[in-house]
Amino acid sequence: MIVGEQKPIAEIKRMVAPYKKLLILGCGTCVSTCFAGGKDEVATLASALRLAFRAEGGEIEVEELTVERQCENEFIQEAAAGAARNSAVLSLACGAGVQAIARRFGRTPVLPGVNTSFIGVLERQGVFTEECIGCGNCELAVFGGICPITRCSKKLLNGPCGGSQGGKCEIDPETDCAWQLIIDRLRVLGQMDNLRTYIPPKDWRSSISGGPRKLVREDLIV
Ligand code: SF4
Ligand code: SF4
Repeated sequence: MIVGEQKPIAEIKRMVAPYKKLLILGCGTCVSTCFAGGKDEVATLASALRLAFRAEGGEIEVEELTVERQCENEFIQEAAAGAARNSAVLSLACGAGVQAIARRFGRTPVLPGVNTSFIGVLERQGVFTEECIGCGNCELAVFGGICPITRCSKKLLNGPCGGSQGGKCEIDPETDCAWQLIIDRLRVLGQMDNLRTYIPPKDWRSSISGGPRKLVREDLIV
């Protein structure tokens, strides 16, 4: 999922200050799972903003709405009326959702309420870890399902750097060495021979380094 964190209330307050009527728009998928922008967070933020403005003698009308996904037109449509009757939309979606909303409602200012962080998993309650940088050419089969591009500090593709201590990365002793994890996993899988597979230098053109990407599925286009 996309992992993000709600922006500090002071920053949000500064952003929304020029607007008298605000739609706070939540997203019911990734940001809901990571407690950054789902229905509950929309309600909490709406109350906090009302209180904050009232405490300073200011005024803001806040409307709340959460749609299933802000990155899909089918669901964005549900926000059309709310966007039209407010002077701005504060989107609590990831950066893709914010841009999808801005694209769809061209005449309404759309503001980001969440800092989008990474593609990751919920490791345990309250702890999210980055697992994939979307390189565009997945090699997880060779690495036993553990991505060194994302999880090795040096993005090494052909084995460890040799600096790992006690299974931890030499760059950050709080972080597991990705190559230790890969080797442990390959051992369990009986796939240690994978370590003999030479991985050539990565062609980063399939990643964001090659410029903005687009995926076109001709078979789905109507
Ligand atoms: S190899 Fe690329 S696509 Fe696969 S998990 Fe790593 S970064 Fe993501
Ligand atoms: S210690 Fe492990 S994770 Fe850290 S840079 Fe070296 S190989 Fe990569």
